[in-house]
Amino acid sequence: MVRSPSSPRHVAGQPARRVILAALIAAACDSPMVVRPDFAYNPTDLTGGQLYRWSTGARVRVFVEPMGAGSVDLAIAVQRAVSAWNAVPQAREFTLDVVTNRDVADVIVYDRSLPQPVVTGSCPFNPSGAAGYTYFCPINGRAERLRPLASTVLTTAIVIRVDMTTTATQAALDALVAHEVGHAVGIGGHSPQSTDVMYTRPTVRTPTDRDRNTLRNVLGRAADITL
Ligand SMILES: [Zn+2]
Repeated sequence: MVRSPSSPRHVAGQPARRVILAALIAAACDSPMVVRPDFAYNPTDLTGGQLYRWSTGARVRVFVEPMGAGSVDLAIAVQRAVSAWNAVPQAREFTLDVVTNRDVADVIVYDRSLPQPVVTGSCPFNPSGAAGYTYFCPINGRAERLRPLASTVLTTAIVIRVDMTTTATQAALDALVAHEVGHAVGIGGHSPQSTDVMYTRPTVRTPTDRDRNTLRNVLGRAADITL
């Protein structure tokens, strides 16, 4: 909200002060007052201390490789994760959007039973037997762009592979996908507390205060790697 400066009548004869007041109001409007919480666990312990996040204000397009009908639904899990993490930024530092066109995707989510959806980048893509795996390849401070299969354009920064044979229920898949999407929005670490989404074996899909505070802290810091 923009407010007009106080009536000039109150500062007549003090032009310098009036200018300062106007400048303060302008500054307050330009930068929302955001108090950053401290992180609850280290968001860079998987990246050797490198902090990564999307550029401020990014709209992040998320594509889910379609699956046949089954008892658990990957698209639903991704939509839930997107909604949950979108609620965390304090100043719209990023917005995740699920899209239906793979060729414009910043993030691609797929199940292990499907072919790898992008041409491999410069870093080793090695999910081995992990239930969930989030990949990006930093080059000169930025995540390398990958080319989705059948596309000619380099668009994709992050690839998430899940193994749905490890998740018998929708709740288990929701927790796994929420965890991986947490990595994809800037948490490059794991919580030691089992109740957090970013615990190594997550059981919940909604970020806790500890998860939220950790991400909010990341979003307020300068990135070593921009996604
Ligand atoms: Zn993880």
